[in-house]
Amino acid sequence: MKTRIAFFDAKDYDKESFIRSNSDENFDISYFETRLSKDTCRLAEGFDAVCVFVNDDINKDVIDMLVDMDVKLIALRCAGYNNVDIDYAYKKLHVVRVPAYSPYAVAEHAMALLLTSVRRIHKAYIRTKDFNFSLNGLTGFDLHGKTVGVVGTGKIGRIFIDICRGFGMNIIAYDKFPAEGSGIEYVSLDELWERSDIISFHCPLTDENHHMVNEETIEKMKKGVILINTSRGALIDAEALVEGIKQRKVGAACLDVYEEESDVFFHDYSNHIVNDDVLARLISMPNVIVTSHQAFLTQEALSNIADTTLENVKDFFENGYSKNEVCYKCALINTCNQDHNKKCF
Ligand code: NAD
Repeated sequence: MKTRIAFFDAKDYDKESFIRSNSDENFDISYFETRLSKDTCRLAEGFDAVCVFVNDDINKDVIDMLVDMDVKLIALRCAGYNNVDIDYAYKKLHVVRVPAYSPYAVAEHAMALLLTSVRRIHKAYIRTKDFNFSLNGLTGFDLHGKTVGVVGTGKIGRIFIDICRGFGMNIIAYDKFPAEGSGIEYVSLDELWERSDIISFHCPLTDENHHMVNEETIEKMKKGVILINTSRGALIDAEALVEGIKQRKVGAACLDVYEEESDVFFHDYSNHIVNDDVLARLISMPNVIVTSHQAFLTQEALSNIADTTLENVKDFFENGYSKNEVCYKCALINTCNQDHNKKCF
């Protein structure tokens, strides 16, 4: 019998890549446009696995309901798993993810945002569409010779560093687990705040680094600093960011993620009044660029996401484990030595 997958928060581009990846129809996939939450969880009745994305909320109630309905697996089609209560899922539900699908997609998007901001491309595009060829107010600055502080030097952070090196920038970095022998100049967070002209975030969101950019840390930064966040919104206290920009301390912000994004991102609100005043204020600022969590969105990434997700599901149901299981008990994901047959429990 085919493995049945309830696919939540399905968008057209998801369906295209998963239908392609499931062309031999090994899986029976039902696509639901709605997100997985306590209210929609019943849709998963009769399925073996749920497939979810970054803004599906897999909290304690949802986990209990999934267990009740005999769902065996949560298959995340993303890398981060901060939207799953992993502690609570332990010994109840297995969770698999896609640890890497195209780190290039995200790193390149971070640089695209930076270049757009620094060279005022977002302004120039609108002007020339209106046959306004004036250059007033479009003065940028050279990236060459500037110092970029990279927070998180994993797969995406390292590629972003390589791209910045190509631009002749000086690189400093902070990582909770610095990569030895990488040749990267690691500094403390305080030193990174103080020395960087540009700061780019490439670390996961954890309890420990929630709002790592706040009123106090913004105070430590250089005047005119540019912040780039393609990681997770809640790394930045958005209200503190608005204040920092209003006080001219923060020179620009490039945001692909936003702490309250789950209420708005991925939907068309062009005919609505958005209720989020902080987001509306940020978008109104000429030196803020917001993209709606699209850094991952390349053909290569979508195809890798679909292939790996279905491979994870197949491995789990056919072989009893997946190498991409999120292992709560292990310090390092995928390098678990515990005697639980390569499963988290
Ligand atoms: P990765 O696991 O390869 O690297 C993460 C790095 O962060 C590691 O080196 C780790 O040691 C470091 N780290 C962990 N905790 C830290 C902390 N508290 N402070 C500083 N560094 C810390 O992950 P990756 O593939 O490079 O992805 C990085 C992040 O990018 C993901 O966690 C995810 O939130 C985000 N992401 C965003 C998109 C998007 O579309 N915007 C897509 C994919 C990933």
